[in-house]
Amino acid sequence: MKLSDNSMWEAVKQNDKRYDHRFYYAVKTTKIVCNPSCTSKTPKRDNVRYYPTLSQAIHDGFRPCKRCRPDLVDHSDYYFVEQVSSIFEKKYMLPLTLDQIAHQIGYSKYHLLRLYKKVTGKSLMTDLTLIRIQKSIELLLSSSLTITQIAYDVGYQSTSQYNVVFKRKMGCTPSIYRKRERI
Ligand SMILES: [Zn+2]
Repeated sequence: MKLSDNSMWEAVKQNDKRYDHRFYYAVKTTKIVCNPSCTSKTPKRDNVRYYPTLSQAIHDGFRPCKRCRPDLVDHSDYYFVEQVSSIFEKKYMLPLTLDQIAHQIGYSKYHLLRLYKKVTGKSLMTDLTLIRIQKSIELLLSSSLTITQIAYDVGYQSTSQYNVVFKRKMGCTPSIYRKRERI
């Protein structure tokens, strides 16, 4: 999946560990290349260059950061997060349970939750909810589907469940959101 400039910049600003080894950012002024999660001071956006691979950055004269060590890759953790993200992307529209996700990855529920938290710093089900809400917002704004259809289309079992989750995240119900944001 190709990442946009904006989403990479967001990941750098947020020190988002989920993007580690998916891309690297190099800082022209310090000549250092980092993982997105690096906790060093956020550079000026103008000084940042993005690289899909570390070797390209090194080829251009950047040195791997001593703090975040982009040169040390834990491939298994990286692969694990890729797997979970791809299940989310392909199956968010289904009423996915934790059991089903764990089964597909081949881990126990407990191990799945713990590893996801360790690698990304976030909760797995929260991330799934986020994807569902984002997808539903696209539908609210760009389609004429009813709220009930949208709720089912993004994996909720009932409109009321969708309403509750949406309101918690966005501060209002889906129908109010649609009225307010739609041009
Ligand atoms: Zn770094």
